[in-house]
Amino acid sequence: MADNKVKEIEDLIKVISKLPGLGKKSASRIVLKLINSRDDLMKNLTNTLATAYKRVVRCKNCGILKSIDLDCVCTSKKYDQICVVENLADMFTIQDTGIYSGSYHILGGVLPSFEGKSSGNGLLIDSLVNRVKKNSIKEVILATSASIEGETTAHYISDSLKNIKVKITRLAKGVPVGGEIEFLDDGTLFSAFKNRSTLTTD
Ligand SMILES: [Zn+2]
Repeated sequence: MADNKVKEIEDLIKVISKLPGLGKKSASRIVLKLINSRDDLMKNLTNTLATAYKRVVRCKNCGILKSIDLDCVCTSKKYDQICVVENLADMFTIQDTGIYSGSYHILGGVLPSFEGKSSGNGLLIDSLVNRVKKNSIKEVILATSASIEGETTAHYISDSLKNIKVKITRLAKGVPVGGEIEFLDDGTLFSAFKNRSTLTTD
């Protein structure tokens, strides 16, 4: 007996159900919608996805996403503040609140709390130090999470910047311990920013 399942459709459902917030059921509905408007929606999505895949890259200097043949915002000397976050989601969260309007630096993760601190673990820390030097930055705001790893990372960065004349601040402790910036409400984030304090390494 022939199987009425179409492999291509099953594959599509499988991929789409990996997207955040989608289970198999929602993925099936999306795939159905796509197939029902194949010349419009499906074609458009295919082209848009292919273009984004080819043209959206992560800046090797600051970690922000950019269009492949355009200069990254980090080359601008417009801002004298850099807010350091762990990942893109954290940046979007802070941007959405409108609390802060300087530039960003995306580390790409945090350091483990116990080992490998000296290497920087592939995080964009050296390039942060270079940016601070090159763009005469006045303040580096460390907005890593309040977890042990987030604290370890903040201290490591602060240590890496100790020979440069720059103010280093850390978000206030209003951020719950272990709290991920991405999941904070606007009020908590606003007060954590407003009440940020200067970090000393000694
Ligand atoms: Zn950049």
